[in-house]
Amino acid sequence: MLMTSQGGKVHDARELLRTRPDSIREGNKRRVLRAVMAQPGTTQVQIARRTQLSQGTVSGVVQEFEAAGVFKVDGGDGERGKRVSIGSVRGAAVGVEVGHDRLTVVVRRVDSDDTVHEVVNFGVAQGLDTWRRECIRMIRQLVARTGLGDEHVVSIGLGIPAAIDPRTAKISQVASSQDWDLQGYPNTWFEDAFPKVPVIPDNECNLAAFGEHLYGLGRDRETMLFVKSSSGIGAGLVIARGILRGRHGLGGEIGHLTMDPLGVVCRCGGRGCLETLVGGARLVEQVRLAYAGYQVDLPSNLENLIERAKGDDRVCRRVLEDAARNIGLALARVCNIVNPELIVIGGELGRAGELVTGPAALTFQQNALEGMFTHPEPTEIKQSELGMLAGPKGALGLALLTDFQPG
Ligand SMILES: [Zn+2]
Repeated sequence: MLMTSQGGKVHDARELLRTRPDSIREGNKRRVLRAVMAQPGTTQVQIARRTQLSQGTVSGVVQEFEAAGVFKVDGGDGERGKRVSIGSVRGAAVGVEVGHDRLTVVVRRVDSDDTVHEVVNFGVAQGLDTWRRECIRMIRQLVARTGLGDEHVVSIGLGIPAAIDPRTAKISQVASSQDWDLQGYPNTWFEDAFPKVPVIPDNECNLAAFGEHLYGLGRDRETMLFVKSSSGIGAGLVIARGILRGRHGLGGEIGHLTMDPLGVVCRCGGRGCLETLVGGARLVEQVRLAYAGYQVDLPSNLENLIERAKGDDRVCRRVLEDAARNIGLALARVCNIVNPELIVIGGELGRAGELVTGPAALTFQQNALEGMFTHPEPTEIKQSELGMLAGPKGALGLALLTDFQPG
């Protein structure tokens, strides 16, 4: 046990989280500790909602941990408004998102709300051994930047483009028809580099939704839908502060919602899926067709297309607006079933801002049930606050919140 210069004890986050709770009271303390690690600066009211414990129980635990130096409690009006953070505790939390051609790692000390991150432009398409080696290097380097070492890593959240069976943690379906080597149990992928560190895998869209819920626009929203639209389109649903995964981990997927049964065949084998209408490559293709036969400098990718739409290119603008209207219609169909408080559009299409959220909101309103807009707190459609960091930050937060019992 280390001692601080003030003579207080410095706790090891891994020790605090690893001891097996031997009573309900110890179990409750663990839940409160995880809630504060995941959302530093949270209020006691928010902790009670997150943990589903009573205000009295939360208050008792907060006092006990504050006395031990594990928590810091600051300001606020009255007991309920006080903000609770982590005190003298050493620990680093990690969030990873690996996509088709991008790998992002986020690291945060549990006693801070400042994250550090790194992005490299390759991903699952390069094969597990390659991206995993790079990922381990990034984690070690970022943890070192926070002043800590490998031995302080508390947990690793891992977002991958696949569905994961929530009961077994085994991959149940890979998101692409490409020949990616994503299979088996992702929670074993880092056990050599980080032995005994729990790895919590989930679908990247689920984690982006959860990230926006914990740290972005969805703070204090119980139910929200996050749409991630880039080369493909996926979504994650947060219901009652938890991720809706369903039996096979496929919950919330809207990319393969049939929009036109007579439309073009999709890579999933279906026909007329939302992705065939709004997937990045499809949009670029529409621009190419519009200019067919003419010597025009064409957008090379979705990012480029969005930049042009923001400028004066009427073709790019029209293609984006039509995509947004299709997304709005798909959202109306989903929302008539789940009725979320908030819809967040992320991924590359999220960066188009009002160009996409405007037409999407209009079509959404024309097709969703009226009560969602006439209510004093109507369902809103907004651009993601966290952008491309929603997924890795959600991975980091989910891993901190997930109780892991050593075998
Ligand atoms: Zn499809």
